[in-house]
Amino acid sequence: MIALSLAEIAEIVGGKTHDIPDPAILVTGSVVIDSRAVEPGSLFAAFSGEKADGHDFAERAVAQGAVAVLAARPVPAPAIVVDDVQAALGRLARAVVERLGTQVVALTGSAGKTSTKDLVAQVLRRKAPTVFTPGSLNNEIGLPLTALTATAETEHLVLEMGARGIGHIRYLTGLTPPRIGLVLNVGTAHIGEFGGREQIAVAKGELVESLPPAEEGGIAVLNADDPLVRAMSTRTRARVVLFGEAADAAVRAENVRLTEHGQPSFTLHTPTGCSDVTMRLYGEHHVSNALAAAAVAHELGMPVDEIASALSEAGSLSRWRMEVTERPDGVTIVNDAYNANPESMRAALRALAAMGEAARAKGGRTWAVLGMMAELGDEALAEHDAVGRLAVRLNVGKLVAVGGREASWLQLGAYNEGSWGEESVHVSDAQAAVDLLRSELRPGDVVLVKASRSVGLEKVAEALLEGE
Ligand code: ATP
Ligand code: MG
Repeated sequence: MIALSLAEIAEIVGGKTHDIPDPAILVTGSVVIDSRAVEPGSLFAAFSGEKADGHDFAERAVAQGAVAVLAARPVPAPAIVVDDVQAALGRLARAVVERLGTQVVALTGSAGKTSTKDLVAQVLRRKAPTVFTPGSLNNEIGLPLTALTATAETEHLVLEMGARGIGHIRYLTGLTPPRIGLVLNVGTAHIGEFGGREQIAVAKGELVESLPPAEEGGIAVLNADDPLVRAMSTRTRARVVLFGEAADAAVRAENVRLTEHGQPSFTLHTPTGCSDVTMRLYGEHHVSNALAAAAVAHELGMPVDEIASALSEAGSLSRWRMEVTERPDGVTIVNDAYNANPESMRAALRALAAMGEAARAKGGRTWAVLGMMAELGDEALAEHDAVGRLAVRLNVGKLVAVGGREASWLQLGAYNEGSWGEESVHVSDAQAAVDLLRSELRPGDVVLVKASRSVGLEKVAEALLEGE
């Protein structure tokens, strides 16, 4: 964090200092919520979680070098005491971002936030120092913590914003008001909690509602190919920039194809010219993510050639998202076990199908090791059935459905679409899947592993990579 004195912080957050010998002492390190991450100069924010109460670690944090504790009650350590630690953290983030004058780019969507955020950051940091959300820290705690890592050099702050309900994004945009807001798609992620796609659109659209008007530089970057996102153009005062395949999109991809490895290749069109891109990332869904990143970069004045070359070099910065590893014996593991929803399942299956041709040429087969997609509410049966069917239609060699009831729906979908016998199997847990694959895999095979986070299917991918 930029250096601020305890007195300044207390004033910003509206807190009372407690047991502080000198209010002029500066916080020079980061703001942390885990006492193990404290470094000299840190401010330790004490949160009360389900398992532990940060206030119990106040003394330890200070012993490790924290200057003070941001706390909801007096603790046996120097502290700034506030009514609500989360709200205080938010106020601090807002004050720091305002003071720095950093350009905030915020993005949301149902699928691909983290992937796109990583792309935007990798493109923009070619131009100027960029701070961005690590991993998926996109909520009311992660977002201010990220914003607080900005320094005087930081020109761009790229923030992922997640929503689990109406009002969440509005809250986040209040902490770090964006000038550029990007909405990727409105899918079915968390549909059970929201109660329908339209409600998800209401929640995601709060991002563009928060933007400053066009005259003040507000820019809404919207996916032209998603009707619910396109419709958000009427909910913003900002200038609208569309990306996608639609003819009226300012930033478009033409000649889209997947290389034999499943990596997208296309010609990027922007209002200032075009340039070819061949991505290192896997799966055609990254075309849309790349266009979104290109639209942001274009609006921030980057030349198309530079955008295209940054997109071609960009790698995955976050774990377990289409992580492709070839074992010495020629078996390829595609670990996409970070999370799953219907859209991302389809995207991953299509990437696997594209890799299938090259695999078959080497005598290999494609395997989809899939588990449950969580939080689908009433749509759960139909969506699992549809994914099972798609695996068959895409000619995936073998479907291994892992887990309970939802896995049986995946298998049933495949069966009803015309798979038979050994082409789709249902196993009860990750270990059973590992045992099956260990005995069946042969050189040239490609194995996709994917399910919702709670299933933890990365265990399968990791076990298959370890044993070699
Ligand atoms: P979370 O809500 O968990 O933070 P996220 O929106 O950040 O998710 P990612 O982590 O980028 O999304 O990707 C999640 C899954 O969605 C991955 O399996 C990825 O392959 C897939 N995915 C990425 N981009 C898209 C897209 N544009 N459309 C559909 N699926 C996508
Ligand atoms: Mg994410």
